Formats: sequence, structure tokens, C-alpha cells
Amino acid sequence: MISSDPKKVKSICFDRIAIKDQTKLSVARANGAYEFLPTVLKEFTSEKIIAEVKTSGIRGRGGAGFPTGLKWSFVPRNTGKPIYLMCNADEGEPGTFKDRDIMRFDPHLLIEGMIMAGFALGVHDAYIYIRGEFLHEANVLDAAIREAYAANLLGENILGTKFSMNLTVHRGAGAYICGEETALIESVEGKAGRPRFKPPFPAVEGFYRCPTVVNNVETLATIPAILKFGGEWHASIGVANNTGMKIFSVSGHVNKPGNYEVPLGTSLRALIEDCCGGLQHGTVPKAIIPGGSSSPWLTAEHYDIPLTFDDLAKAGSMMGSGAIIVMDETADVLAVARRLAHFYAHESCGQCTPCREGTGWLERVLVRIEAGNGKPDDMDVLRDAARFMAGRTICALADGAAAPVLSVLRHFPDAVRAGIVEKAA
Ligand code: SF4
Repeated sequence: MISSDPKKVKSICFDRIAIKDQTKLSVARANGAYEFLPTVLKEFTSEKIIAEVKTSGIRGRGGAGFPTGLKWSFVPRNTGKPIYLMCNADEGEPGTFKDRDIMRFDPHLLIEGMIMAGFALGVHDAYIYIRGEFLHEANVLDAAIREAYAANLLGENILGTKFSMNLTVHRGAGAYICGEETALIESVEGKAGRPRFKPPFPAVEGFYRCPTVVNNVETLATIPAILKFGGEWHASIGVANNTGMKIFSVSGHVNKPGNYEVPLGTSLRALIEDCCGGLQHGTVPKAIIPGGSSSPWLTAEHYDIPLTFDDLAKAGSMMGSGAIIVMDETADVLAVARRLAHFYAHESCGQCTPCREGTGWLERVLVRIEAGNGKPDDMDVLRDAARFMAGRTICALADGAAAPVLSVLRHFPDAVRAGIVEKAA
């Protein structure tokens, strides 16, 4: 953090983002990077760090929203097996582009967070799993890691302490499913990226069947601020059970799409109107996808919803990765659902029959409706297929594939019905 006064902190992960050449270690250090690391390594214990992270209330910023401190406390110690830390930098959820900015503009923030997390968990080898398309970001990270090794911030006996940790960037091949933590682990092991059946969960049995913590980029990048200013400070931002700041990637029909870091609890309306300059057409959105393309859609009636894990869940959707896709009155919602159906059909790993068959089924039915060949019972077919996919598979991809279809059927049935009646008559 640039500021040493917690009251003056307006941003956590994007605090230094606008500073030129921030990727260079000398510039990052001049602006506060690694400033608090010696204190953590020399004066904090593993228990104290985990307690601070628990107190902070931070919930994972990658999708599931699981409390980070709790996840860390599940890791069994003294089993004789190594413990691994993996940063999930796959960021494949359509609409999400926040982790990319952290990595390309402030890689040392992520590296510092990983060193602190690694120290808390007793990790010797940590990895950043980055999607293959992020070549520039992988190169930026590699250069930053090289500088960190040269400055004894990584490697053996970091900063003269007994703690040693290696950090390696591992590039994936760009499969969406590798953002699922067990598929990610399979991929780092050199296998096809396919989710594992759970339990056991990775915290107990992950990389090479050893305890493994998988955390998102934004989550790890928040750790330096939590340890510097304290868990209570972080818990004072946002609202109860939904603490801290969150980066929202806003795209679609807004005047100023982009990444915005705001306290949790900020209303959707405030985010769109104050940060994003409002809608391109009309005054309220026709539809909003609040947490990446796999989250159920919201509509104009939810425009004032506070952006929290709990409020979005109550509204029948979810925070996900914080990727907000806004559709104004000009949006063709059927075309959006069809396009997303194509994406999920392409990305299904094929292990589970309801997902492998169902995603293709949804796409084919939506394509024929859009093309004017819809059959009279196609709405029922879509509904049944989507319902029989959700909750019946190894991972959540099938639920994510069903969400846009069920959303369109629920909120915009006329858009589907009109196509079928008109074209099939
Ligand atoms: Fe693979 Fe789909 Fe099953 Fe997930 S739900 S494991 S993506 S087939």
C-alpha cells in the first residue's frame, strides 16, 4: 500500500495501479511494496496471520466466496507431506478481466501476497496458474519474479529468515474448466484439465495428493493490506459478512466499461451510474449478469441491489467473480443466451453425461429457435434440459451453462416464445 494511514486507503488491489513502471521492483518498492514483509516474516506466526485473515472476513474473490481464513485453517499440518499454494490466475469467466490488470500493472502486489500466504501455510513451492492467452501477463510476472529472487524476496532464507519459498508461473492452454480448482491442479500435474470428484477437497488432498490451497489473484493481492492494517480494519470496510473492497469488471451497454474497485455493499445503480457513466440507452438495464456469465440474470427490479455475496444470493444469483455484464433495452437476450450456450458446449470437459450432452442440446435448440426453426415444445425442452443438468455433475460448469437459459425463460419468455410461434407457424 502507498499510504501508511489506513484511513486514507481508497483502494486495496488498485492502490498503485496508475503508477508508471510499477512492474519494476525498484518502483514498486518506492511505493510501499514489500514494506511490511520483513515484519510479517520476523514477528508474525502462522497462527497470527490466519487469525488476522479470519478476522478480516475476506471471502474468496474468484467465484465461490468461501472465507479465505477458514480455507487456510483446513490445511492439515505435520502430515509429512509438503503443502502447496496455487494462485488461480485462469480468469476464464466471460466478463471477467480484473486479475489481468493486477498481474500486468502490479505483479509485485500478488507476489508479496503469495509470500505472506505461503509463510502462513508453511509452503515451500508455490505456483501461479495463468491462462495461456495471458502471454503478456505471464511475461510480466516472470520478470517480476526474477527481480524478486535477485532481491532475496523469493528463494532460500527470504530476507535472512528461515523461510524459503519458490514461485513458478505455469501457463495453461486456455481451457475455461481449468479455472475450477481441481481441474487446475490436474493441469499443473501435466494431465488434461478435468475436475476431480470431491471430497477430498484440495486443502486436504490436492497437488500430487498433498494439501494444497488454491486462491484467486485478487484474494492473494489483498493479503498485504490485511496484514499491514489488521483484520479489524478490513472488516470495517463494506457490510457485515461481506467485508472489504471488490473489483467489479463492468462490460456491456455502459458508457465507461472497465474495472472498478468499490466497497462491498455499494449498490448496482451507484456502480453503473457513478463509476460507469450510466447506460448507453434508456435509464434502467433490461438485464444484468452480476457475477460472470455463469450467474443467473437480474433485471431492472434489482437495479438498487447492494453488491454483496448475500444480497445477490437472496436475489437468486451470485457474486461469482464480480463480472457485471449490463444489457440495455437494445439487447437481444435470445442471442446472448445462444452465444453463451455455445461457449459452455465448447468448454465442457465431457466427463459427466448431463453436461456433455446437455450443453450441446441447449445450444442446438437455441440455434434453431433463433434461426426460425423452433418447435412448439422447445421452451419445455430447454427448461427440462437445463434443470436436469444443474446440480447433477462433478463441477459447477453444468449449472453455469443452465443459468443463462433458465434466466431467459424466466425473465424474457416472450423473446423465446415469439421466435417459436412466429417462425414455426
Ligand atoms: Fe466436465 Fe461438465 Fe462434468 Fe464439469 S460438469 S466435470 S465440465 S462434464
